[in-house]
Amino acid sequence: ENCRNSLRPVSNHGRSALIFNQAYQSVQRSFAVGTTKNKEWRRRQLKRAWWMVEDNKQRIADALYADLHKHYQEAYCGDCKGVQGDILRTLEKFDEWTKDERPSRSDPLNFLGRTTVRKEPLGVTLIIGAWNFPISLSLQPMVAAIAAGCAVILKPSDMASACQDLLMEIIPKYMDNDAIRCVSAGPREMGYILEHRFDHIFYTGSPNVAKIIHAAAAKHLTPVTLELGGQCPAIVAESADPDLTAKHIAVTKFMNAGQVCLNVNHVLVHPVLRDRLVAELSRHFDIFLGGKDNKPEYYTHIINDRNFDRLENLLQKTSGKIVYGGQRDRTSRYFAPTIVTGVKPGDSLLSEEIFGPILPIIDADFDTAISFTRSGEHPLAIYAFTTQEADKSRILNETQSGGVTFNDCGLHVAGRDVPFGGVGNSGQGRYHGPHGILTFSHLRTHTNALPSWVESLIAARYPPYSVDKAHK
Ligand code: NAD
Repeated sequence: ENCRNSLRPVSNHGRSALIFNQAYQSVQRSFAVGTTKNKEWRRRQLKRAWWMVEDNKQRIADALYADLHKHYQEAYCGDCKGVQGDILRTLEKFDEWTKDERPSRSDPLNFLGRTTVRKEPLGVTLIIGAWNFPISLSLQPMVAAIAAGCAVILKPSDMASACQDLLMEIIPKYMDNDAIRCVSAGPREMGYILEHRFDHIFYTGSPNVAKIIHAAAAKHLTPVTLELGGQCPAIVAESADPDLTAKHIAVTKFMNAGQVCLNVNHVLVHPVLRDRLVAELSRHFDIFLGGKDNKPEYYTHIINDRNFDRLENLLQKTSGKIVYGGQRDRTSRYFAPTIVTGVKPGDSLLSEEIFGPILPIIDADFDTAISFTRSGEHPLAIYAFTTQEADKSRILNETQSGGVTFNDCGLHVAGRDVPFGGVGNSGQGRYHGPHGILTFSHLRTHTNALPSWVESLIAARYPPYSVDKAHK
């Protein structure tokens, strides 16, 4: 209660603490008086969110260019279209996805007691976004939270500062500022924010920071949804089509310069196919770049110096061989798509999630690829390229991952109304479509007493106990 009401500035962060406190009190109040539960309010906020993106498309693209050197096509498709599509689908299905459920009437208890399962909003949720899709990874969870009837404090990534500043400016203009607040915070301010009690925390980012979030949430028994990273393998079996396989892997690595949780982290390819695959990967990178040594204006750069240096360091330490790309420039943070062959388990490139445009190639037959994948943390996705149904069954039965796409990359997340999330080190919980609404909801069952005439049929409920009554 102290936390809820205090206006307690912390040293050196007095101003941001004060701003946060005001936001926190406002959203708490809005939820408490029922504003956000109102379904008309939810619909209105969703429509306003759609217009917020629509009216500011160009500014969003400009901010993404400033932060990541992202081209308009990637910005629009990756950060605007997805959010707007999500909103339209949520509005279309709003009644169905938010309605109360009536369990099977074949159970007399449900039938006679008129049992109902209500989807109730969890309350005030803190949404923490990542920098690689700084708009959509903030707004998509926000859409689900609003649809579920929650009040929201949104904390975009401070590393994508242009996008953060834009969200800080436009959210108050479009959204109900009493119930939906955007705050800016770096790791130090987050320490203060996380002292507070939320009813739910939705976090997208790295597993390391997720542990901090999880520990802070545990102090209040706050449920968390963790959308974490990556290390997704592409397993290429002997039967795979090298051209199409390479095209799908290359485009995944090219997009956002590999700074995508679902991008291919490393390739485990059957040795007989390796050279063909590498040749095809190089050919496709050539096409995407507009020529081997071309540095196209439309290619995304690395987010900041720290990440550039991290990638540089991984590449310096590899014992593999750079066979494609490798051009990089610290000033502009341009880092070309780079293929490294001869990578062995234990290599620097396999020591952490790459989250960049380096593509390590490991020789591995299908058995080895499966056991290598099983030996690490559960990835966010597995991509398996094979024509053999038996191979597909083995992937599903012998490995664990957030999702799986066969013979392409990332497609499993594009489907309508399907859940998206990780497992183990790649996350917990899920969202998208109806699953997002469930994530921000508590399923509250309520029922009524049975008619009094039923009493005569349920003697076994009441003492004194007897073996005879137990069997009635
Ligand atoms: P990050 O963990 O550094 O930051 C994520 C968020 O946490 C940011 O808002 C940041 O400000 C905040 N944060 C950072 N340090 C903090 C601290 N000490 N205390 C509290 N909050 C803190 O992650 P990132 O670098 O922004 O994103 C990259 C990671 O996110 C990768 O691992 C990637 O795979 C993952 N990711 C996952 C998904 C998904 O949907 N599963 C999507 C995008 C990115």
